[in-house]
Amino acid sequence: MANHRHPESTVVHIGVGQDPSYGALSTPIYQTVTYQHPGSGLGPFDYSRTVNPTRLGLAHGLADLEQGAGATLFSSGMAAITALCHLLDQKSHVVLTEDVYGGTYRLMVDVFQRFGVQFTFVDTRDVEKVAAAMQPNTRLVFVETPSNPLLQITDLRSMVEIAHGHGAWLAVDNTFMTPLRQRPLALGADFSVYSVTKYLSGHNDVLAGAIVTPSHEMAIRLDELANATGGVLAPFDAWLVMRGVKTLAARLDRQERTAQIVAERLSAHPRVSHVFYPGLPKAPGRTLHFEQATGAGAMLSFQLPDPQSIPRFMDALQLVSPAVSLGGVESLITHPFSETHREFPESERLRLNILPGLLRLSVGLEYPDDIVQDLIQALDHV
Ligand SMILES: *Cc1c(COP(=O)(O)O)cnc(C)c1O
Repeated sequence: MANHRHPESTVVHIGVGQDPSYGALSTPIYQTVTYQHPGSGLGPFDYSRTVNPTRLGLAHGLADLEQGAGATLFSSGMAAITALCHLLDQKSHVVLTEDVYGGTYRLMVDVFQRFGVQFTFVDTRDVEKVAAAMQPNTRLVFVETPSNPLLQITDLRSMVEIAHGHGAWLAVDNTFMTPLRQRPLALGADFSVYSVTKYLSGHNDVLAGAIVTPSHEMAIRLDELANATGGVLAPFDAWLVMRGVKTLAARLDRQERTAQIVAERLSAHPRVSHVFYPGLPKAPGRTLHFEQATGAGAMLSFQLPDPQSIPRFMDALQLVSPAVSLGGVESLITHPFSETHREFPESERLRLNILPGLLRLSVGLEYPDDIVQDLIQALDHV
């Protein structure tokens, strides 16, 4: 039965029917560190760093949603990506999308480099470049598609082929798309990685991360790593995610429709020099994107010709909030050059086309016309 259900239904039922004590429909928050054992020896639950029923309910739900063998939950997206890197040995080599999330870049450069992990950032849109970057010690290829903030598209099927051809894993940071729009594991990836903080929880009120994998052994290994390193998701936070994720399908449908409207309106505006959104007819990579994903998502970026006007534009906004983060019910706008991507050296930002006039918009659930009107009145100030 579960296999014939649409993921839009699965997502609503995450956590339902988990309470053996009273049959509570909503999974209770098991706010406990430890568990009383029946007689001597350990019961199924022992210590909440290792396992907690609230967290477990969510993990089963997320694994189901992507038809993975297991999901491991972490206290943030970065804790999830850290655990993924903990699978690597010293002197392993990693190939990453060059415009990855700034925090992933920082994790590699500031932390794992000191532990002897080597890495190469490449333009993963270019399959040849990825193939050329592979080394005998490459253990992991880590990609984001669409990328952040330029929404560039990487061919996931080719990444699977290249990674597996070299005995490496493919991990996809699928935060922007969610399992409802893109299913990396179904395309052959070894890991789907999520900042659950974003669309999955959806309300800008909880930090969480997840890794979903098609392999039972790997799911167990990741649970062991989470237990060993300790960055696990707290019961209350797991509950908040469970509450938020139920409306994912409805939120995403609406946010995506609005994003399409906003992208079209901004494209037609004389004070906007470029709009980056895979839903636009002329977006590079659009055809490829729709071969591996079922929607364009609700993230877009746009370029203002004069970077000096950005503060005036931001100050004039009344509905859209200037704030980092994305994927929640409130529309948020950020300036990648000075905020989300400031971890990259300036020369790198410029080389990657993350220019001072670029803005990234996470389209929320406000009435579509209100979002458009707010942006258009703010453009009068640039
Ligand atoms: C936010 C984000 C992360 C990091 O997640 P946190 O929950 O903030 O730790 C990783 N990847 C992408 C694409 C993100 O947007």
